[in-house]
Amino acid sequence: MAGNNVDPQKIDQKLEDTRTEVEEMKSLLEKEKRNHVTLLNKLKMHDNSTQVTIQNLQKRLDELEKDQQLVLNQLLDEERSHIVATEELKTFLVNPADDITCSICLCSWESTGPHCVASLPCGHIFGMSCIQQCVLRTQLCPQCRAPVCYCDILCHPPS
Ligand SMILES: [Zn+2]
Ligand SMILES: [Zn+2]
Repeated sequence: MAGNNVDPQKIDQKLEDTRTEVEEMKSLLEKEKRNHVTLLNKLKMHDNSTQVTIQNLQKRLDELEKDQQLVLNQLLDEERSHIVATEELKTFLVNPADDITCSICLCSWESTGPHCVASLPCGHIFGMSCIQQCVLRTQLCPQCRAPVCYCDILCHPPS
């Protein structure tokens, strides 16, 4: 049984070797740990920058959506005012009461008499008595404020 002969010197040597090996492994592990932390930090930074990029994109998207909404609202407004104008025109065309009414006294003019139809050079039409009084006072067309002379008032008696 010669194999059982153990040299204590050799055991010490082996122990020392093992210790060194453990130390080396420890420092290697430390290094790995540090690398791991660095990698984690890098990942975190990358994640953050990705987050920022996503947030910026989201913001840009929101802005674009807002712009779109604004343009849409503008278009809707334009359409609405267009509809209102069309409606006003329709009302005017369907109900030309304004045309046969003196805008000064809001009564319709007569074919004869003091409130017969009278026109001004600007093309506006009133009852004769009303526009005569008005022009005497202001020398202006009450509808478009064009300057008028008393002698400019044209009477339109029935033919
Ligand atoms: Zn009148
Ligand atoms: Zn006028």
